[in-house]
Amino acid sequence: MALWVGVQQERHFAVTETVIPAQRHIRTNDGVCVIVAAEELHRLNVWLYKSGLKLLAQIHSHPGRAYHSTTDDAYAVATTVGCLSLVVPNFAREPFDFARVAAYRLDEKAKWNALPPAALSRMIMISS
Ligand SMILES: [Zn+2]
Repeated sequence: MALWVGVQQERHFAVTETVIPAQRHIRTNDGVCVIVAAEELHRLNVWLYKSGLKLLAQIHSHPGRAYHSTTDDAYAVATTVGCLSLVVPNFAREPFDFARVAAYRLDEKAKWNALPPAALSRMIMISS
């Protein structure tokens, strides 16, 4: 699980850092997942506030198919309206490609809505 953070400039958002929060990996009857503890979330939020940065997206991988599970919906780290959640298939073994990523955006009703790959690639520009 990684986070994209950065600064918002009017309608644009520049990702300045990728943050990998402290996390624990667990296996349940439903599969595998990572847990970011409450203290780490607090530490991240304090750090974001002090640095004037915002959380734009959370990114995590699945062992197989990419989709937002009910656990992903319920325990998202990104909780601001407009945030993105990207799920990468096959433990991110293949090169990163928007067409293979399952993308979701959080609305004002706290619902994660699927974003088609075309919409995602229009929204995000990768520059070096
Ligand atoms: Zn997931």
